Amino acid sequence: MIICETREELTNWRNNQLEVSLVPTMGALHDGHLSLIQEAKKHRGRSLVSIFVNPKQFGPNEDFDQYPRTLDADLKKCEDEGVDCVWIPKERGIYPEGVENAIGITVPDSLSKVLCGVSRPHFFDGVCTVVYRLLILSKATTAIFGEKDFQQLIILKKMVSDLMIPVTISGCPIVRETDGLAMSSRNRYLSSKERHNAATLYQALLTAKKELSEGINDISVIRSRLQSNCPQLTLDYLECVDHDTLELKQTCKNGDRLCVAAWCGQTRLIDNLMI
Ligand code: AMP
Repeated sequence: MIICETREELTNWRNNQLEVSLVPTMGALHDGHLSLIQEAKKHRGRSLVSIFVNPKQFGPNEDFDQYPRTLDADLKKCEDEGVDCVWIPKERGIYPEGVENAIGITVPDSLSKVLCGVSRPHFFDGVCTVVYRLLILSKATTAIFGEKDFQQLIILKKMVSDLMIPVTISGCPIVRETDGLAMSSRNRYLSSKERHNAATLYQALLTAKKELSEGINDISVIRSRLQSNCPQLTLDYLECVDHDTLELKQTCKNGDRLCVAAWCGQTRLIDNLMI
């Protein structure tokens, strides 16, 4: 396994016209990330994992400094998965003139100011800006993302299509703990009591799906029932969206997606479920 810091070290692959499957991450790798890596390994060519905690996607009061950084363990996991190269760029490798002076991608409000974008208005601009740069620098032919961040996946698909970037974006299902909690690098912030409470979110989504099949399809009703099914959590949002366009629905139907965010103590959980 190659460990590299700069784009130049990826040049050999590009010169040899190898296909490259990129898995962009912020590190603190768990089984959700590993499922993306396993998907990358199914593709022809080389597998490339990037580890970069992107300052541009964190708000001023968010956890950039505290974000878990576990590089040694991450490298071991990548090695065990048979990753061809781990790319750990420095901040100046991605933002040569500094984050503040970087030209960025702006996502239309219709996609970036709904769901997670209500409480994190600059988040998706930051994500698109870094992913754009990772794609251009790596010349990846495929990039693999998790459905855990469903809004992000839809926005990135639109970005590569709008900007005509020659890459295929591939989405992978959510990997969960045995009690259903969606795996996340931030789950390690949870106390054991919070960890217990956190699992109620997915159970409440499953209940909503079941009730939907019994005819409860108004999102306002689903929202208040979901909140009462996870009383220890504070709902940030629950919305039903079109699977391809993220258009918000008042009335849910099969094939839509329920997207949720909720606070569990100081930790914000997100999850989603196809209904
Ligand atoms: P992050 O390191 O949190 O930026 O995530 C890197 C990638 O891993 C993103 O494409 C996420 O959607 C994906 N990911 C994170 N958690 C999970 C999970 N539980 N299941 C599947 N993919 C995930």
